[in-house]
Amino acid sequence: MASQAPMKPPDGQTFVEASLELSGKSREESRRTGAMDRADEQVEGFFASKYQTSSSPIHRAVWERDFPLDLFLSEPPPTPAADAARAMQRSLDIVRGHLAAGTLLDERGKIFPTVFAELGTAGYWGLLVDRAYGGHDLPMSVFMPFLTKMTTLFGTLAGLASVHGCVGAVDPLHGMGTPAQKAKFLPMLASGERISGFALTEPGAGSDLTALKTRAVLNGDHYLVTGEKLFITNAIPGRIVALVCMIDDRPEVLLVDLPEENEQFQLVRYGLYALKHSYNNGLKFHSFPVPKDNLLKPQFGNGLTVAYHGLNRGRVAVCANAAGGMRLMLANMLPWARYRKTYGEQIVKRELVRRRIGRMAGLIVACDALSSWCSWLLDQGYRGEMECTIAKIFGSESQKEAAVELFMKTHGGRSFLHGHLFGDNVHEYLAPCIYEGEGEMLGMAFFKSLVKQHGKTYFEPIGRTLKDLGVRQPNLLNPVHLTKLAPAMTTYGKWLVGEKFGPRSCPALPELPTALAEHAQYAITALQQSGREVSGAMRKHQLQLADRQCRMSDLSLRVQDMVTMLVTALYAGRQTDPLVQSAADVACQDLVLRRTKKRPSDAYFRTVTRLGQQIADGGFEAIAGVPEGEIMMQYDANVS
Ligand SMILES: Cc1cc2nc3c(=O)[nH]c(=O)nc-3n(C[C@H](O)[C@H](O)[C@H](O)COP(=O)(O)OP(=O)(O)OC[C@H]3O[C@@H](n4cnc5c(N)ncnc54)[C@H](O)[C@@H]3O)c2cc1C
Repeated sequence: MASQAPMKPPDGQTFVEASLELSGKSREESRRTGAMDRADEQVEGFFASKYQTSSSPIHRAVWERDFPLDLFLSEPPPTPAADAARAMQRSLDIVRGHLAAGTLLDERGKIFPTVFAELGTAGYWGLLVDRAYGGHDLPMSVFMPFLTKMTTLFGTLAGLASVHGCVGAVDPLHGMGTPAQKAKFLPMLASGERISGFALTEPGAGSDLTALKTRAVLNGDHYLVTGEKLFITNAIPGRIVALVCMIDDRPEVLLVDLPEENEQFQLVRYGLYALKHSYNNGLKFHSFPVPKDNLLKPQFGNGLTVAYHGLNRGRVAVCANAAGGMRLMLANMLPWARYRKTYGEQIVKRELVRRRIGRMAGLIVACDALSSWCSWLLDQGYRGEMECTIAKIFGSESQKEAAVELFMKTHGGRSFLHGHLFGDNVHEYLAPCIYEGEGEMLGMAFFKSLVKQHGKTYFEPIGRTLKDLGVRQPNLLNPVHLTKLAPAMTTYGKWLVGEKFGPRSCPALPELPTALAEHAQYAITALQQSGREVSGAMRKHQLQLADRQCRMSDLSLRVQDMVTMLVTALYAGRQTDPLVQSAADVACQDLVLRRTKKRPSDAYFRTVTRLGQQIADGGFEAIAGVPEGEIMMQYDANVS
């Protein structure tokens, strides 16, 4: 077992790279993983230590003895300034007006350019831009519920606001632009004279960002860009894209004004089912000139630092959009469920349908809770990487489940009619599981962020010793191994004993209805125990853990679910609508069932179907005013 390989990492190799190589990975894979690891550390450098991942609510909840309850409580959003409130209201009115008049979409189903311009006049595109540049500087905690509202009218426009303001050019300019760059770009991005997108994905680089090939080479006052991007939303001539490309072998971001197609720039067109009301194209560049002043130079890191910052915001927006999309589904589902009779009875009276309604309400409230909590954290200055990842995964997966399991099934065959909310939007409901990072890939990234510091503190010293000894596995009967490993193993042993027997504390919960208090307590205890569970997997799989993707994914989801449960219970405790509190109770019970893999009890069925009935009877504030749509193919006009 003792392979006596030379143990000094080659020059420039990080420990992560060296350990991966030791675990049998190729030099190339180790180098690429190390590069992503370095990029992640550079993003951390962008934040004061209090706001970094290792100080984040989730990290502290799992690894610290004192539970940071205050960081899970969040606060209601501030009241926006009067002009910002008017801009939001006016934007909603414009979209509502166009929907009513049938003037939102052209003959190809794309949003009319005049609608973009009108929204620009209302201030829509400047909601996240600083006031100094003509915007409204909305906090995330105000912007996200607004996006939810916009989604209940027209999801694509809400999505584009996030593409523009979060992942597109606005966020990187705020965080990393020079005063000259801000002065040049932000006013036109605020007014909507230009709207923006984000170009990262390439034909050969989606999940694997180390495979980026698009390059820019400095030539006088310009960079010459060559390469191809794929799946870029809102990418048509006249838009500005934040383009991630390699410059001197480092990923960087150039702000690129897309011209009409010419010899140096072409669109790659394809048919895409999702985002069908906006544009999504590939981009081909051949020595395409971009002014060198359009390079964003972050204080720390590189282009991936820029990308990650905006993606966090975009990921919360995915959750906020899902909360809106599911409201629309629920509002649409109720009149149909009351109308449709089978075996002489309305389907809304059936338990299975009531359960779907109750579960849908639970998912809506949980998404509201995550969106509200994450945006509050971002407003506080937290990096929020792990928290926003949960919002993205939970939001997109909930919307997928709601669309297929709850909405489609209830509408039966009519779901597939042209003009039906499901049939017309099924790809819109599924695509968020993929864009801004596919869920399971993100789940693994979440897990890596969770274990990084623990691994560095306790496992890295053991790994380094093994490396010095030139072995993959220790032989504790070998006195040399034992002596060399003793200090590092003792440190870890002390941590383990402390975890098992040491005291833990958590401040008292705020006043909550009994069921929600029990859920919150359950989640806190589970999170406090998860450090040991995760550490156990690290101990068991050691350097092979990176390959045990199914285990990482499972552990990741267990932690994610408990965070969602805690945040949902605490959020609902602040709400006055008893139906919101019951919906949160159902969402939490569903999460417990997923965790324990137990059969649902009769009490659970009673709770969820009673909630479904109450919502069908009316009065669920979360869907007040949400358009119901028409019942398609009515067969008996007398049934109400
Ligand atoms: C509607 C839509 C809009 C989009 N808008 C944009 C945009 O505006 N800008 C932009 O830059 N991109 C955009 N994208 C691209 C999107 O972000 C990518 O599709 C996504 O990141 C996944 O990349 P990929 O498609 O290349 O998947 P791939 O990298 O081909 O991966 C496919 C799947 O393989 C599996 N997989 C891959 N690697 C691993 C691994 N190491 N271990 C285990 N499993 C693995 C995962 O399940 C993964 O999802 C958009 C995509 C869509 C569908």
